[in-house]
Amino acid sequence: MKLILLGPPGGGKGTQAKFLVYKYSIPQISTGDMLRANVRDQTALGIEAQNFMNEGRLVPDEVILGMMDSRLQKEDCKNGYILDGFPRTIPQAEGLDKLLDKIGHKLNYAIVLDVEQEAIVNRLSSRRSCRGCGRVYNLIFDPPEKENKCGSCDDELYQREDDKTETIKNRLKIYNEQTAPLIEFYSAKNLTQHVDASGDIHQVKANLITALI
Ligand code: AMP
Repeated sequence: MKLILLGPPGGGKGTQAKFLVYKYSIPQISTGDMLRANVRDQTALGIEAQNFMNEGRLVPDEVILGMMDSRLQKEDCKNGYILDGFPRTIPQAEGLDKLLDKIGHKLNYAIVLDVEQEAIVNRLSSRRSCRGCGRVYNLIFDPPEKENKCGSCDDELYQREDDKTETIKNRLKIYNEQTAPLIEFYSAKNLTQHVDASGDIHQVKANLITALI
């Protein structure tokens, strides 16, 4: 199963991707997670990406496409994958098409998580991430048991720089301008499946299962 998850930041892509990993035994490939690991390790790629990320701007297409070229050719991608946060622009989607042709892969679906954008500022500003293992919590919908501590590894929780209110607004603007046109791009290829993602995690999961049957 080869899937793209499309939808605004805070639309639940990461959360639902984790469920699909379990259901299909395929990897979640999140460009945001890959970039954050590079920033944390201060690799050349991470140093190049960090200012774009902190300001909620997109990292240049060539950087992302280079990173995905090597990632999709790894052994664990043979049986499928969930692309989470990629592609994010039309040039990235065109680059992905070329890459898939080169390696002989075919996409099954582009899942569109539909959610009202007013709900997103709330969802994202209450999101907290673990410094150690990267697990994501939401102070309102999925709070940690111990305040500010990760239930999986006991490390500290923090608020991503790009989850602060001003940056969220910028990320939504960029989503509407540069990423939303991908819905039309994949719809023209008959690959889109829309999922109502406005409910809680369990409702969205149920809607997703129905869409994938
Ligand atoms: P995410 O975790 O998917 O919300 O991504 C966090 C940030 O990483 C984004 O706001 C961008 O700065 C950067 N990023 C992640 N994926 C991409 C991508 N496909 N293209 C460009 N920038 C990206």
